[in-house]
Amino acid sequence: MSALVIRGGTVVLPTGQRPADIAILDGTITAVGSEVRDGDETIDARNLVVLPGVIDAHVHFNEPGRADWEGWEAGTRGAAAGGVTTVLEMPLNAHPPTTTPAAFDEKLAIASQKALVDFGLWGGLVPDNLDNLQILHQRGVIGFKAFMSHSGIDDFQRVPDGILAIGLKTTARLNAIVGVHAESHETVERLSTGERSSGADRLSWCRARPSRAEVEAIQRLLVCMRGTGRGVRAHVVHVSCAEGLAQVDAARSKGTTITAETCPHYLAFTEEDFERIGPALKCAPPIRDPATREALWAEVLAGRVDLIGSDHSPCPAADKQKGEHDIWQAWGGIAGIQATLPVLLTDGLHARGLSLERIAHLTATAPAQLFGLFPRKGGIAVGADADFAIVDPEQRWTFGSNDLQTRSGVSAYLGRAFTGKVVRTIVRGTTVFVDGEIVGNPGWGQFVKPQPTR
Ligand SMILES: [Zn+2]
Repeated sequence: MSALVIRGGTVVLPTGQRPADIAILDGTITAVGSEVRDGDETIDARNLVVLPGVIDAHVHFNEPGRADWEGWEAGTRGAAAGGVTTVLEMPLNAHPPTTTPAAFDEKLAIASQKALVDFGLWGGLVPDNLDNLQILHQRGVIGFKAFMSHSGIDDFQRVPDGILAIGLKTTARLNAIVGVHAESHETVERLSTGERSSGADRLSWCRARPSRAEVEAIQRLLVCMRGTGRGVRAHVVHVSCAEGLAQVDAARSKGTTITAETCPHYLAFTEEDFERIGPALKCAPPIRDPATREALWAEVLAGRVDLIGSDHSPCPAADKQKGEHDIWQAWGGIAGIQATLPVLLTDGLHARGLSLERIAHLTATAPAQLFGLFPRKGGIAVGADADFAIVDPEQRWTFGSNDLQTRSGVSAYLGRAFTGKVVRTIVRGTTVFVDGEIVGNPGWGQFVKPQPTR
């Protein structure tokens, strides 16, 4: 007998969506179909869509060291509310950053106590830790994050191209993936100097970090990848423009193992929103103009974006407020972990015809495959973990402060109207969020490691 049955929902399977019941025992899916018998507990999913739980490959919880910026408990409460069942958490802005085995062990211990959802940990690739990459890889990091431009925080140094090339040689040997923040340091520094001294309206932040700074950095990353040998794998995080994706696509078609993600905020907002909302929408790369956003949507719809991560990166409210009149003073980072599915349902499914199958692929299957978590995670199938985001795709709602889970209470999405809402989140068969309430417990989340791809 099953412990749990999800009955009557439209289930988004790798082969397409269809009405089906799902049986779950000990946190694992044991049957999907029409003849599933009752279990101890039954969830009525009629008129709802059952998606595989979101795997958010890009979040910053900032603990240890800066738990007042978010922390594992607040961050994974947001995950639960957003239908996110696994987070892959970045090596910054925790302190110490996750660039040494000791820092990894410290973060793993804290996350294991506090997380409500499953989690993997990124390691860092910084100028002074090349000797640590192998041991971090053995610890089970999901990959290594590197910055080509300033990270915004002094304890996580950017890598000049020469060091990036050396780091890529090491990660190629390990068959580990490198996640790259690709903005040209040189271009951004030069433009920032001019923009910052010229009166600094909010859009000066955007003008200092144009799309071409991303394109240039991706081109240089590709140069660094050449000559590193077999097995080199790079993933460009938070690409904000079609021109950047075109670079990735062209390299891929020539055989380079490179992928790219974008984020919900680049799909949801434009520079006009940034002018109006200000610091809560400050991020790097910045929010783009309407034409750039539409071109990015076209890339998503054409299947040239590999996956969608939130780049959830909150800070204390005061660090946003101080940029109210001078945008350059604000911390750059967006609290968006709850926004991925609502944005994709509203602006994707309803407004642009993005299919539920594509949403499941972009938010669950693709990240699971890329980061070595598939088939245990990333799809609804017998034998997989029972991780689900159950959504009401037709529900109209407005994102209010009661919905917001982030510690600072700051979100650019407050007041935004959505069609499509997460109504229940299930992690390994246990409901962690239902009807607006967090019901999961800290410590339920388990550490996940990448499985070797070959
Ligand atoms: Zn980030």
